[in-house]
Amino acid sequence: SEFQAFSLLESIIDRISLKGYKQPTPIQKECIPALINGNDLLGIAQTGTGKTAAFSLPIINNFARNKIAIKAKSTRSLILTPTRELASQIMQSIDDYADGLGLKTKVVYGGVGRQAQVDSIALGLDILVATPGRLLDLIETGDINFKALEVFVLDEADTMLDMGFFNDVQNIISKLPKNRQTLLFSATMPAEIEILAEAILTDPTKVQI
Ligand code: AMP
Repeated sequence: SEFQAFSLLESIIDRISLKGYKQPTPIQKECIPALINGNDLLGIAQTGTGKTAAFSLPIINNFARNKIAIKAKSTRSLILTPTRELASQIMQSIDDYADGLGLKTKVVYGGVGRQAQVDSIALGLDILVATPGRLLDLIETGDINFKALEVFVLDEADTMLDMGFFNDVQNIISKLPKNRQTLLFSATMPAEIEILAEAILTDPTKVQI
């Protein structure tokens, strides 16, 4: 399939086939090569376009090709999304795509016990999927730091704004190292998101679906 044209690991191509994906969606065609290359990205796209795989496959691929010993209580990537439903769906997709690659992943959100979350993060993670409230809580108690962070994905930025999470999001961003790859996805681009995108993205690849 056209997925083979991307320089993705064979194991990831196999997982994509198992999921029944025949061809990359338009957003995947544009995002995957740019993200494997390390570019920042502004994606104007809704859920249902295949954006989860568009940002997840390059992260999984790049980390599996370049495994490192991760610092305690840190994560190589952070995917911030507004709701626990979205967080769970993203984690499920990532765990499917990354099966067998030995990456450490965890999803954290509020309303459930935090100790299992703290224990997973303590070992160091490749991929952390989080909602803003619980993540801020874990930052404030010192249970997570961003010393190992390489990639930050802000998913559904406009929904964050609509749900009143914008201050929390900005607070979290202020804790991240400046030297990182940043991806911002939003279905719409209100002024607040334009300003944020300008502030946190460096020469981004722009994809509008
Ligand atoms: P998303 O926009 O990431 O929420 O994805 C929407 C749905 O499309 C999910 O159920 C995915 O499993 C599915 N999907 C993602 N990429 C593809 C693809 N290339 N071909 C077929 N289905 C896909």
